[in-house]
Amino acid sequence: MSELERTSDRTPAMPAWEYAPAPESKNVVRLRDRYELFIGGRFVEPKNGRYLPTIDPSSEEVLAEVAEAGAEDVDLAVTAARDAWTSAWRGLPGAERAKYLYRIARALQERAREFAVLESMNGGKPIKESRDVDIPLAASHFFYYAGWADKLDYAFPGRRPGPIGVAGQVIPWNFPLLMAAWKLAPALATGNTSVLKPAETTPLTALLLAEVIQEAELPEGVVNIVTGAAETGAALVNAEVDKVAFTGSTEVGKQIQRTLAGTGKRLTLELGGKAANIVFDDAPLDQAVEGVVNGIFFNQGHVCCAGSRLLVQEPIFEPLLEKLKARLQTLRVGAPLDKNTDIGAINSEAQLRKIEELVAAGVEEGAEIYQPACDLPARGFWFRPTLFTGVSQSHRIAQEEIFGPVLSILTFRTPEEAVEKANNTPYGLSAGVWTEKGSRILWMAQRMEAGVVWANTFNRFDPASPFGGYKESGFGREGGLQGLEPYLELDGAR
Ligand code: NAD
Ligand code: MN
Repeated sequence: MSELERTSDRTPAMPAWEYAPAPESKNVVRLRDRYELFIGGRFVEPKNGRYLPTIDPSSEEVLAEVAEAGAEDVDLAVTAARDAWTSAWRGLPGAERAKYLYRIARALQERAREFAVLESMNGGKPIKESRDVDIPLAASHFFYYAGWADKLDYAFPGRRPGPIGVAGQVIPWNFPLLMAAWKLAPALATGNTSVLKPAETTPLTALLLAEVIQEAELPEGVVNIVTGAAETGAALVNAEVDKVAFTGSTEVGKQIQRTLAGTGKRLTLELGGKAANIVFDDAPLDQAVEGVVNGIFFNQGHVCCAGSRLLVQEPIFEPLLEKLKARLQTLRVGAPLDKNTDIGAINSEAQLRKIEELVAAGVEEGAEIYQPACDLPARGFWFRPTLFTGVSQSHRIAQEEIFGPVLSILTFRTPEEAVEKANNTPYGLSAGVWTEKGSRILWMAQRMEAGVVWANTFNRFDPASPFGGYKESGFGREGGLQGLEPYLELDGAR
């Protein structure tokens, strides 16, 4: 014991302990000034000569200009996909198609760091998530579906599975590369060709994937990538495609369904959600708190299956809330490329305004708001992790998808009441149950109208596990054996 310690009668104060910045280097990424459309295996300028800037939402800095495809470009891409289908892809044995998918998967692994940094720069998500979740899962989707390509006859015994043709695939901005993988891997494995439209705010990793696809020497035109906004997406839906796969808002999904009615084009929709994360009084509280935090704050809450409604059994409401508030104070909001960041930037200014509007409505309607004190960067789009208590089922924050780091907390007494409240939503994508009782998990899972029910965990994804919705969350499944079906004619190959 030192002299100082022996003579001092005061307990030493806790050292002020801070994280040092731990930024991931941007050097692995080579940005171009301008990105063209990927059509027929080549990068081509848009016919209309139009480009849109794409930014880093954490700084508002323009990263590059990206081509905005018009209807003419989209038609060219669909024609390229059609030609590739009839002349090359449709006739390839499954094992040959698989070789290309394995190449893409391995290239994603080899260039994982580059993809992760670019994903975080363009979309605002924390590097630890793009590094540990988005990019590895994208690679595993290609690996997984590569494995199915030569086994389709075994997947559907007694049927004659064959491809549909050209798929038009429209994806959102919350998991840009992962959603591209969810769309492309099953389509290609089953012998279809694709025209993919990334979201307007996050086109860059899809365009890097186009480079990977070129290097993997896929036959030209098997994958085409047309960047642009809503108009480009609408042009793709209206083009001569055989199937449309859409992930995005329920509003646009409904519009697409109306447009396609009667056309004979096949359709799958993966839309919004308002998932209930349900904690029973026998659940291990600390684990449940981690699950609740992951459920709503993962990817800034820009997650269709986010656990945005917390249903807590009454006896544990107070202790759970206390733990949750304490945990929120430790969340680090800030630079997406910092390895210690938990909550990155909101993806766009438009999304930030939407979150702000719904949070204001929550306060207006009488719910009680809690936000931890934390400094937000001066530039860029940011929102503090937010909790609402005193929420009633009729509040907008309990009904509408906020798609941001905002949790609405409600309580319940009995399992029946939990089920009723969980299902009291137009959506039905996912749900979570926290309890020690296995029998109660099964009882709840049978009654909840949700495509995925997680038990004592949340936001777990695996390419072998099907994902998709009930009700206004859409229809069709992605992932697993089920994810092959939307891309197949099951009786008589075309
Ligand atoms: P959105 O549905 O408008 O966009 C999703 C994709 O569809 C983008 O690529 C977009 O360019 C395209 N698109 C837009 N209008 C189209 C049209 N008429 N025809 C064809 N394609 C079209 O979503 P958004 O405006 O970016 O976000 C709004 C809300 O949607 C969010 O706040 C959130 O609630 C929800 N959302 C859900 C998901 C999800 O994963 N389910 C993803 C993104 C957004
Ligand atoms: Mn929109």
